Amino acid sequence: MTWQQRIDSALAWRRASDSFRTRQANQQGSGRYLIQNDTRYLNFSSNDYLGISHHAEVVNAWQQGAEIYGIGSGGSGHVTGYHEAHQRFEQQLADWLGYPRALLFISGFAANQALIAALTEKSDRIVADKLSHASLLEAAMHSPAQLRRFAHNDIASLQTLLASQTDGQQLVITEGIFSMDGDAAPLAEIAQATREAQGLLMVDDAHGIGVIGEEGRGSCYQQHVKPDLLVVTFGKAFGASGAAVLCSESMADYLLQSARHLIYSTAMPPAQACALSAALNVIRSEDSRRTQLHANIAHFRAGSAQLPLQLMASQTAIQPLIVGGNQPALNLAATLRERGFWLTAIRPPTVPAGTARLRVTLTASHTREDIDKLLEALYDATR
Ligand SMILES: *Cc1c(COP(=O)(O)O)cnc(C)c1O
Repeated sequence: MTWQQRIDSALAWRRASDSFRTRQANQQGSGRYLIQNDTRYLNFSSNDYLGISHHAEVVNAWQQGAEIYGIGSGGSGHVTGYHEAHQRFEQQLADWLGYPRALLFISGFAANQALIAALTEKSDRIVADKLSHASLLEAAMHSPAQLRRFAHNDIASLQTLLASQTDGQQLVITEGIFSMDGDAAPLAEIAQATREAQGLLMVDDAHGIGVIGEEGRGSCYQQHVKPDLLVVTFGKAFGASGAAVLCSESMADYLLQSARHLIYSTAMPPAQACALSAALNVIRSEDSRRTQLHANIAHFRAGSAQLPLQLMASQTAIQPLIVGGNQPALNLAATLRERGFWLTAIRPPTVPAGTARLRVTLTASHTREDIDKLLEALYDATR
């Protein structure tokens, strides 16, 4: 097969299975409204859970940071790219979450790849929740270690895998809140099982950080768990992008020696670290944003009990409505779009076959009326 034949056949397969992905540029897309081709939609697909992407103080902090530092960092953090703005923000994160150290990464994807690659050796075993994010499973598959997946949120399944014979170390991986189902992991039990097996625990709390618990400290804090590696990302509740890993002094020093995504990649712009610091201040102090989000979640769930679509057990901003087939899910998304609502149909392989869904994400920027309008449109489209 030539290169061209390989590419053509992959594309043909995607088209034939209704899983061909396309994208279109928005005029606006991160906040309450999405604007595309001069048409305005109520946006129920944004991860900007607390509405911080347009917060005046945060925008201002980014601008001021650019005035001071310029727009870029100028290099890898190991050369000249690491600035006081990064250091201040790392210290703020460590204090907030109760860890000795925090290390910034350019994205959650990069952080997960870097950590798993830096830690694992051939004789090791990675034991990950079956529904872990692509950035985790992909890194685990590419690592020299053996990857075993435990049944979603199933402690017995985790314990069975951990108990089987291994020569090396075991790394247990899960998420605080799962990105496609919106449900929470039983972190205390997972932490205990990991401890008993003398494993290392890594939790990716991309969807919990900022949103859950006192001052938005996330899933781990709320469940009184302190994983060896806590990954938090800034593309969701922080309204920006980037990530950090929270860990011990020695782990941070180890990662600075071995995490290739830190060593061979340009550091985050320092102005972005300034904006993220401002976003963290908002997250810690503006409790009203979390209150609004949680009221919106409760209102949506109460209203959607009337719909002939399966609602999942999620108490979080991620509220998937299971449709089933790919085409029906796409059709429903298209019908809603005609009525002015932007929702994304999520299809296999991102989710298991036969569970194509509308992934509704709620934010603190939505009003009660926005949600009522969406419920009404969903009701009309499905009856
Ligand atoms: C979004 C997400 C990531 C990726 O983070 P980015 O900063 O967007 O690269 C990683 N893990 C989970 C669970 C996520 O939801």
